[in-house]
Amino acid sequence: TTETERPEIERILPRIHARYTPLRDGQLADYIPELARMEPDSFGIAIATAEGHQFSVGDAERPFTIQSISKALTFCMALELAGAAAVRARVGVEPSGDAFNAIEFDPVTRRPYNPMVNAGAIAISGLLHEVLGDAAFETVLDRFSQAAGRRLAMDEAVYRSEAETGHRNRAIAHLLLSAGALTGPVEPALDLYFRQCSILVTATDLARIGATMGHLGEQPWSGRQVFEVSAVRDTLSVMFSCGVYDYSGNWAHDVGVPAKSGVGGGILGVVSRQLGLATFSPRLDARGNSVRGLAVFKSLAAELGLHVFDAT
Ligand code: GLN
Repeated sequence: TTETERPEIERILPRIHARYTPLRDGQLADYIPELARMEPDSFGIAIATAEGHQFSVGDAERPFTIQSISKALTFCMALELAGAAAVRARVGVEPSGDAFNAIEFDPVTRRPYNPMVNAGAIAISGLLHEVLGDAAFETVLDRFSQAAGRRLAMDEAVYRSEAETGHRNRAIAHLLLSAGALTGPVEPALDLYFRQCSILVTATDLARIGATMGHLGEQPWSGRQVFEVSAVRDTLSVMFSCGVYDYSGNWAHDVGVPAKSGVGGGILGVVSRQLGLATFSPRLDARGNSVRGLAVFKSLAAELGLHVFDAT
């Protein structure tokens, strides 16, 4: 952000927030009982730049569970901790065109299509547990916290709710085991997955995590290298092609920014070398993406010229 862009962001954010406040379409995710208790009309937007500037509007400090956005970050960690070859042996990088919770693997490789849907993410959690053992969750929480720049915590009630009702994810884990994409026992992989999804963040946290990725893995405020450069590159690539489930093609076309959504209502976007942006609004469309989040990202990308293939 140059000195000319800063006032522009400050002017645009409240306008976009006001424009979409009346948009009340969509439903809370209720297949995880605890998520149905969220305040449905919460709405926050945050931007953090690679140079360390921050902007926010609305409920940008209200905590919610990170859910599937964790998938991008654990993938990034696994590339570094297990190595890119081991990761690629477990999970592909191909958009699935299926729902996030689909019980569907690539028929040729027998691996999950990509790490941004549940099957691929549970395979990655299993791999992280293999490498890190029982310290896996602490390591994940630590790394997420370093990227956000503050100590994060897990929502116990959401974690228990997911662990008790996640039968579909359990079924997926067993299929992964039979296909060889999971090697260890399923329970530690699932436990890590349910825990990582239950980490509490705010829109501001997500924007700062995005700024860290946009800054090639170096956290702009601490100067610490939180993620490996090549792992960030690979992660942004799958976020671009697969980050919002079966809406990813539309998103790449209309928004043109690597992003990851979660059923807690958050969306994280990264403009490489420039900024992280995040929205929080828990009413979801039929694909599990935040309704206001989609609208805000489309508007912000257009007004700030963020699309990767924009001419200016
Ligand atoms: N924990 C959720 C699940 O496994 C995450 C899904 C999501 O955010 N899309 O169903």
